[in-house]
Amino acid sequence: MMDLIKQASDHLRKSAYAIALTGAGISTESGIPDFRGPSGIWTKNPEAERKAYQRYEVFLANPATYWEERLSSPSLLGDLDRIAPNPGHHALAELERMGHLKTLITQNIDNLHQRAGSKQVLDYHGNESRLRCASCHARYEREEYGLEGLRREGRLPPLCKGCGGVVKLDTVHFGEPIPPDVAERSIEEVEKCDLMLICGTSAVVYPFASLPVMLKQRRGSAKAAIVEINAEPTPLTREGISDYLIQGKTGQILPQLVDEVKR
Ligand SMILES: [Zn+2]
Repeated sequence: MMDLIKQASDHLRKSAYAIALTGAGISTESGIPDFRGPSGIWTKNPEAERKAYQRYEVFLANPATYWEERLSSPSLLGDLDRIAPNPGHHALAELERMGHLKTLITQNIDNLHQRAGSKQVLDYHGNESRLRCASCHARYEREEYGLEGLRREGRLPPLCKGCGGVVKLDTVHFGEPIPPDVAERSIEEVEKCDLMLICGTSAVVYPFASLPVMLKQRRGSAKAAIVEINAEPTPLTREGISDYLIQGKTGQILPQLVDEVKR
């Protein structure tokens, strides 16, 4: 395994534009439950899953009801303020500070990459700490809106300060398209990159899953390396999308990778 970490650090040092894709695996090491694992949120609570599937339709049909429901149910992820970024998050932030990593595209909504110090983050599935206008896609910090106050005054849903459109959670719900600005920027990043680190995700959820495939099939420019850091082999490993898998916990491997790059 050390050989593979050395190989990845060579790839990182030689790359002109490396990006990372991250998923639930990196956050479960901070104690955030996943959704479909053996003790996942939905495995234990199928009713919550059923409701999650309806959430976007409820928003479209009746945004005030959507907000009443959101404000009266606790976050499924638990109290995120009490959860901290782990060594995997910190290692990716450090790679960015060192100039080796240009952008991070994450499926996680927990804001832990930003809290670890990563600056260039594309929240592919949104971010729990923010709200988003459904019309112009402007993002707002949750606190800016005084949601409880609006609820008490019967003024839900919140409206966009820019365009007056209806505001929802930034989190992307089932059936909701990926926000177009994030989708476009992600594709641009994949087109630019010459190295992709895939950390803690089996990348099977579309359209996120199309990003490594798109890179693998890219034509007309130098071949890019795709390196996986995952606890188990994934479809990316089995289908030969990734060049190699460094198997293990991201919280252990990524700090070793940083050490190796510094050497
Ligand atoms: Zn707006």
